[in-house]
Amino acid sequence: MAVEAESQPSGALAPQASSATEMRGGARVTEGDGPPGAMPDVRDLSLPALRGLMGEMGEPAYRADQVWSFLYARGHVRFEEMHTLTKALRATLAARFRISALPVLEVTRARDGTEKFLFGLEDGRAVEAVLIPDGRRLTLCVSSQVGCAYACRFCLTGFRGFARNLQPSEIVGQYLVAAAHAGEGARITNMVFMGQGEPLANLDNVITAIDILTEPTGLSVSPRRITVSTVGLLPQMRELLARTKVELAVSLHATTEATRTDLVPSNRRYGLHALLATCRELPIAKRSRITYEYTMLAGVNDSDEDRRRLAKLLRGTRCTINLIPFNPFPGGEFRSSPIDRIERFAEALRSDGYAVMIRRTRGADVFAACGMLGRTQPEINS
Ligand code: SAH
Repeated sequence: MAVEAESQPSGALAPQASSATEMRGGARVTEGDGPPGAMPDVRDLSLPALRGLMGEMGEPAYRADQVWSFLYARGHVRFEEMHTLTKALRATLAARFRISALPVLEVTRARDGTEKFLFGLEDGRAVEAVLIPDGRRLTLCVSSQVGCAYACRFCLTGFRGFARNLQPSEIVGQYLVAAAHAGEGARITNMVFMGQGEPLANLDNVITAIDILTEPTGLSVSPRRITVSTVGLLPQMRELLARTKVELAVSLHATTEATRTDLVPSNRRYGLHALLATCRELPIAKRSRITYEYTMLAGVNDSDEDRRRLAKLLRGTRCTINLIPFNPFPGGEFRSSPIDRIERFAEALRSDGYAVMIRRTRGADVFAACGMLGRTQPEINS
C-alpha cells in the first residue's frame, strides 16, 4: 500500500478473508471479518439498509433519515441524543447497535505537511490513513483492510501479510476523523483507497462505505472524487463499476506477463493481457478515465523497451499513466529509477499522446508514502 497526492486530477492468490454475509433486519451485516465479538455498528449500514431495518421494526422509513442526519449531517454520536426519535426507538437501537468513533492512537506530521493517522481498532489491531495537502487539494488516503494478502514484492504492506477486512464503519470512520482534524476551513477534496489492503478483496464493505460517504443527505462526497486502486481483480472491477460511480486506478507495474507475475503474484490468476482486455470493456464514464499505476523500479521495469511496450499495450485507451517513484523500506530489495529516468520515460509517453503524471512522494519521512504503511503494525499474521 500507500499514498499520494497527484499533481493533477485525476495466480496464486493469497487467501482472502471469508465472510458470511447474512440478511439481518433487512440490512446486510457482514460477519466473520470485523472485530471479533463486537456488536454491529450502525455505521456499517447504508441508508437503504437502515430504511429496511426500520421497516422491519415497524417504524416509518423516515426514521432512518432522521438517524442518518444525526449520524452524518450533525455528527451526534449517541442514540440517546437523537431527540426527534421516540424514546422506545432510541432504546431499541441502543440495544442492537453501537456507534463507535475510531480512536486515534497517533497523528504524525511529515515535513511536507502530510499527516499520518494511526487508528486503534476494537480488536487491538491498528490501521493508518494519510491526509495529503497539495495546493487547493486535500487528499485522504484510506485503508480497506488490516494488512494485505497480495504480497506485491515492492510493497511493505504486502510484505507484512494480511490480518482482516475493515468494516464499512471502520473505513467511513477514517474519513470522519480526518475531516474533523482538517477543521472547518479545510475540506477533504479527494479520497483514494490506496492505504493498507486490496479494496476489491473487501468489495461489499468498500461499496457500502462508498454508499455511506456519497449519500447526498449525509457526508455527500462526490463519487468522482473517490478513486479505488486495485491490483487487478477482474470480476470485482466490473462489479465495482456496476454498483458505484467511483474512479478506478489499476496497478500495472510491468509490461510483460513474466515481470508482472514476478512483482505482483496475483498476475498468475489475472494476467496482464486479460486485465487490459477487461479494462477496455469497462463502462467508464465519458469524462473519466482509468489511471494505470506504474511504480518505477530501477533495472526492472524502466527500460526504453518497457516504455515502448507500455505505449503499445495502452494504445487506443482513454487513460492516465501514473508513474510512481519507488519508496524504499528496510528489507526491500528494489531501488527507485532515478528521477531523470522517470522524467524521460514520462516525456516519451507524452509524445506518444498519453496523459502522464509523476506521483510526488509525500510523507516518506513518517512512513506515510506509497507502500510504506503497516510498519507500525507489530504482528499482522498472529
Ligand atoms: N492494493 C491496491 C492499493 C495499493 S497502494 C493496489 O494494488 O492497487 C497504491 C499504489 O502504490 C499501488 O499501485 C501499489 O502497487 C503502489 N506501491 C506499493 N508499494 C509501493 C512502494 N514501495 N513504492 C511505490 N509504490 C508502491
